[in-house]
Amino acid sequence: MNSSSIPQPDSGTAETVTATTGRRTVYLIVLVVLPVLLPALAVPAAWGWGIGPRDVVIAVVMYLISIFGIAIGYHRLFTHRAFRCHRPLRVALMLAGGMAVEGPVTLWAAEHRRHHKYADRDGDPHSPWRYGDDGLALLRGMAHAHIGWFYTARQRSSRRHWVPDLLADPDVRRFDAAYPAVAALSFALPTAVGGLWSMSWAGAWTAFFWGGLVRYAVVHHVTWSVNSIAHTFGDRPFRTRDRSSNVRWVAMLTLGEGWHNWHHMEPACARHGVLRGQFDPSARLIRWFELAGWAFGVRWPDPARLAARRIDQRDPHP
Ligand SMILES: [Zn+2]
Ligand SMILES: [Zn+2]
Repeated sequence: MNSSSIPQPDSGTAETVTATTGRRTVYLIVLVVLPVLLPALAVPAAWGWGIGPRDVVIAVVMYLISIFGIAIGYHRLFTHRAFRCHRPLRVALMLAGGMAVEGPVTLWAAEHRRHHKYADRDGDPHSPWRYGDDGLALLRGMAHAHIGWFYTARQRSSRRHWVPDLLADPDVRRFDAAYPAVAALSFALPTAVGGLWSMSWAGAWTAFFWGGLVRYAVVHHVTWSVNSIAHTFGDRPFRTRDRSSNVRWVAMLTLGEGWHNWHHMEPACARHGVLRGQFDPSARLIRWFELAGWAFGVRWPDPARLAARRIDQRDPHP
């Protein structure tokens, strides 16, 4: 086993490990400070030099790769095993997820599996209801669920406990070990494309800014809005034990992840948007992979189960 994928010595429960100060400082910079600071810088930048069509195209493509990589790769494939697929697609999805700069897949999956076990109860790493459910307490909870917990939580999910299956996978271990290079690629790629496309240093710089920095910050806020918004607002057509909910604009930005209520009902289901009108681009792409023969064993929703689990029976299935 690669030594970099072995968690720190445990001083919490078997489910958690203590994060070192160095690690928390990295989290503070990469996951809290930069994603807040960069969009603030983007406003005067857009005002000053504007954003050209080339940078828009590069940023949108990088956004789609990152968000699909998280939704289909990190989340539905590696965390929940909602389908299986051939190795080239597995590796491609892992790399695409890495473009979001949200950490190695084992860390991401460990925190997320713990979230599902304790959702909105003690032990959930990021519940917006942590401090109570009146105005200010809820606002504080949402900030905690969105990005606050990345720095404040001293106990992090133990990879040995939560993701032994991933740690046993040589491709995952290689990816984790190469993660800093993957994160660097997330910025180098748009920069190189911008430079070659425009054949200029200025084109490389603006592509780095919009397609690299600003895109990474936006991707973070979009991903984490599932934890903050889609556990607070929206409708809950299924009877789950937590407060997971459906929020249409979050679902559209996350390419399907904002249909979060059914996801907590059946975490291993490959489709999150299961009701009429709930467009789920990630599920659509998994279906295309299945049709192409690249993905198999896909766990699609069972209409009978879906109908049985609904609180509101007016629209039993799509
Ligand atoms: Zn959730
Ligand atoms: Zn999940």
